[in-house]
Amino acid sequence: MAEEATIFDKILTGEIPADKVYEDDDVLAFRDINPQAPVHVLVIPKRRAERFAELKHSDTGFAGRLFQGVSRVATELGLDDDGYRVVVNNGRNGQQTVEYLHVHILGGRGMTWPPG
Ligand code: AMP
Repeated sequence: MAEEATIFDKILTGEIPADKVYEDDDVLAFRDINPQAPVHVLVIPKRRAERFAELKHSDTGFAGRLFQGVSRVATELGLDDDGYRVVVNNGRNGQQTVEYLHVHILGGRGMTWPPG
């Protein structure tokens, strides 16, 4: 776990405002400030991990609860019928810019493959 508070830590504590769309005991979801699709939401676990490599040190329910949260958010946003993309940018090559593990939900348009 990194020591320095990230922007997502500050959103979680309310220090920085966010356009929240969903919250439960495990996750918080809010709209991306620079959307790459008509629907672009970030889902963060309430307990911070910096990236995937940390998950082996976490309890086994952590990833499950995060992905269950992603599923709930997508359903609440009405994305289930048309589908959506789930992205985790992890580390430097993954283009991760915020060192707080988070899941992007992108929907509302057709996606292309492969990603750049
Ligand atoms: P990543 O490149 O996966 O680390 O993505 C970080 C994402 O956080 C980017 O898509 C940013 O647009 C988004 N972001 C940065 N600051 C904020 C903020 N204050 N509120 C909402 N989204 C943000």
